[in-house]
Amino acid sequence: MSKLSVDHLLGIKYLNLEDIKLIFETATHFKEVINRPIKKVPSLRDVTIANLFFENSTRTKLSFELAQKRLSADVINFSASSSSLKKGETLIDTVNNILSMKVDMVVMRHPSPGAAMFLSKHVDATIVNAGDGAHEHPTQALLDSYSIDQRLGSVEGKKVVIVGDILHSRVALSNIFALQKLGAEVRVCGPKTLMPKHIESLGIIVETDLRKALDWADVANVLRVQFERMNASYFPSNREYTMQYGITQKVLEDINKPLVIMHPGPINRGVEISSEVADSDQAIILDQVENGVAIRMAVLYLLAAKR
Ligand code: ASP
Repeated sequence: MSKLSVDHLLGIKYLNLEDIKLIFETATHFKEVINRPIKKVPSLRDVTIANLFFENSTRTKLSFELAQKRLSADVINFSASSSSLKKGETLIDTVNNILSMKVDMVVMRHPSPGAAMFLSKHVDATIVNAGDGAHEHPTQALLDSYSIDQRLGSVEGKKVVIVGDILHSRVALSNIFALQKLGAEVRVCGPKTLMPKHIESLGIIVETDLRKALDWADVANVLRVQFERMNASYFPSNREYTMQYGITQKVLEDINKPLVIMHPGPINRGVEISSEVADSDQAIILDQVENGVAIRMAVLYLLAAKR
């Protein structure tokens, strides 16, 4: 069996094309499994996984937990609000205490960029990054690219525009790395104030005109405006943001071409995307969620095989 080139999933940056293809193939197998009447396989029966969420999450946390349970792993969950970090314990101490209970893998979401990498260097467990601040969210990018592959037959050669709050988004960076590795062309579109300073150095074209960007694209991945990461005002008001960058039915009628619409969730309905578009056949938002479980099963299974 082929193996991943990495021992942890810290970011898409550290994966090669073969790794991504192997994850996709494995996910396709697991997608078939989770659509069977009996959705469970014994693959991770002897593996214990801790889900450590130091930042809020709905989809990602549930998706990882379901993926683990479908693989028959033993699962423990822990979230920041109930943790001893509040009592002054360091991250390494917290995790080492958990690991001494014989935990094999840690899935971690943390507000600090680099937290997953840091942990992988200091504790003896397989680490999966479930989002580190505004840095990377590798399983989200894998499920996004996989969803494009499933809808359009391949990712190679496709034109993907990532729309909105690129500055605060870990989804954007991981998606850029994954899409480029898979041979897609990537552009970003949004207000200049929400663009990271050196984004062009990643080989990305920045487009500030939404209609032009959508006219060029096969796929638009629409990001949430990350209000919780903003410490200043990046645009005058939600209404003005929506007028310029909101994906509405009217905008899609104006460009008048087939366009696949994606969103990592949670959606701010009526801000970056209208309900009409989010609920339309063009949108594959719920396919992304379904594929997320299969992708996470694949990642956990392949990483466990490296232990
Ligand atoms: N759920 C994604 C994340 O955790 C996207 C978002 O929150 O907007 O980054």
